[in-house]
Amino acid sequence: MRFKFFFSLWSVTSSWCIKKICNVRRGAISYDSSDQTALYIRMLGDVRVRSQVGFEPERRGSHPYLGVDFRTLHSRAESAGSIPARRIRRLFSFQRHLLSSRLLRGAPHLNPLHILDEDYCGQAKCMLEKVGSWNFDIFLFDRLTNGNSLVFLTFNLLNQYGLIELFQLDMVKLRRFLVLVQEDYHNQNPYHNAVHAADVTQAMHCYLREPKLAQSLTSFDILLGLLAAATHDLDHPGVNQPFLIKTNHYLAALYRNTSVLENHHWRSAVGLLRETELFSHLPVEDSLSIERQLGSLILATDISRQNEYLSRFRTHLDENDLCLGHASHRHFVLQMALKCADICNPCRPWELSKQWSEKVTEEFFHQGDIEKKHKLEISPLCDSEANTIASVQIGFMTYVVEPLFAEWARFSDTRLSQTMLGHLGLNKASWSALEPEASGSSEEGESEPGRATEEPSSRALSQGSQES
Ligand SMILES: [Zn+2]
Repeated sequence: MRFKFFFSLWSVTSSWCIKKICNVRRGAISYDSSDQTALYIRMLGDVRVRSQVGFEPERRGSHPYLGVDFRTLHSRAESAGSIPARRIRRLFSFQRHLLSSRLLRGAPHLNPLHILDEDYCGQAKCMLEKVGSWNFDIFLFDRLTNGNSLVFLTFNLLNQYGLIELFQLDMVKLRRFLVLVQEDYHNQNPYHNAVHAADVTQAMHCYLREPKLAQSLTSFDILLGLLAAATHDLDHPGVNQPFLIKTNHYLAALYRNTSVLENHHWRSAVGLLRETELFSHLPVEDSLSIERQLGSLILATDISRQNEYLSRFRTHLDENDLCLGHASHRHFVLQMALKCADICNPCRPWELSKQWSEKVTEEFFHQGDIEKKHKLEISPLCDSEANTIASVQIGFMTYVVEPLFAEWARFSDTRLSQTMLGHLGLNKASWSALEPEASGSSEEGESEPGRATEEPSSRALSQGSQES
């Protein structure tokens, strides 16, 4: 069955069918067939099976994080007989532990059927009137929407741009798609969760409104940009690519150690698009084009390819040859906009930026703790004894964020770009004041051109990626 699984994924055609996607999703599960009461199944870090006696850790294979048994999965699915296939898919999805995570977080269960009702909190509605503000407090919005910021925000933006009407999107399918997208983020991740996706989507909206983009982007570009932002980290496990590789996770093998997470986010998004049939009314070529371009945008968020995108951007700006009348150039600008949106936390006002910094460092340190516990090499920036929030942030800002936003400001020299650079400078100064030592070592790095451009950046990019 394992052979069959891989065969189905690596089949000659690049367009895979729904059945194959289901295989991918089923394949991610560690499942104990002896536990007849299993209800929810999760992937990766702490693979557990929920049973009547609560959450129990599952140990399978040579490593606790290599918890995949395709044979068991398939036999279980096939022997289910009377259970509808749709329900099986639900149970086997990575992140269909929504109810449990919501309960664990203390948020009351919200019936998804009512999620888009007009009578939701008035304060959230008020906030949406300023959804284009760079000071938009996504944390507050998430609380006001009872943990449904991604659904509300994305729906509101699609509606605001007139995309629902223009693309004749079925409201029931759209609602279902957005709810499933939100569910497939892991809310127990301190950073890579649905609130981060909502934040990136809001930032994307701010960039789409910038004059250069607003004047040239088509409705199709805007639809893609918003969907890519909302789904760009779908089903993120809360650990980075090096972790998946060193623990021999099946996703690393599946994607040959290349953009492992980004490929998975993209395939997961396509899976939900097909499952909900959101674009089934469009000609096949159009929906395939949406899937392909969505992939190209999401894959651009792989921070280990940052230098490649940045040099292309820089060259275009130096030669002043970006022509937004060309679809390929517009697509490239969308990629850059999404990349900026993805790592814009240090460019937000301090009160918001600081919260994101704490969350991402918590996620890094959690990974480091797992590595320590299992005697694996601790990934850079993940060792809580060797790093601090300030040191991680100062390095990230210096070697990753500043170079990107400096180029973005060259491309789009607007008040927003200046505001973002202003916050970036202030936030860096605040972290430096909190930890002068970290800022000192960062400046040392800058004084040595070779190190500044090579060692620290590559280390930050490949290992400590805030966005990997
Ligand atoms: Zn992200």
